[in-house]
Amino acid sequence: MTTAIYDDENIFAKILRGDIPCNKVLENDHALAFEDINPQAPVHVLVIPKGAYVSNDDFTANASEAEIAGFFRAVGHVARELGVAEPGYRLIANTGTHGGQEVPHFHVHICAGRLLGRMIAHPD
Ligand code: AMP
Repeated sequence: MTTAIYDDENIFAKILRGDIPCNKVLENDHALAFEDINPQAPVHVLVIPKGAYVSNDDFTANASEAEIAGFFRAVGHVARELGVAEPGYRLIANTGTHGGQEVPHFHVHICAGRLLGRMIAHPD
């Protein structure tokens, strides 16, 4: 089984606790959605699970069926609420070092609002 040590002091843990603010888009039992502080598209929203999971790897290995279903339903719901289900959007879940994950609390980026171009940009 995948094990990961969760850092309670990561920035999204602080947002979940209400220690620091966010521009909230939606919240339910399983997920919190808020605007990315450094948007890369006209619409750039992050969706995070309420539980303490480091990454997609940790979440899909260790979360309950209810947490996983509730979270991914919330991702789709947020996209519809944002009005981007048509003409579409991109989900990104950076995972680990090679994935470029900066914040060690599992999150999905919803990016939308224009044609997003190439799937992967190469670093320099
Ligand atoms: P990742 O590289 O997938 O871990 O992405 C982390 C994302 O979190 C980046 O897009 C940041 O702009 C975003 N971010 C970092 N701090 C905050 C914050 N306080 N509020 C909203 N978004 C943040």
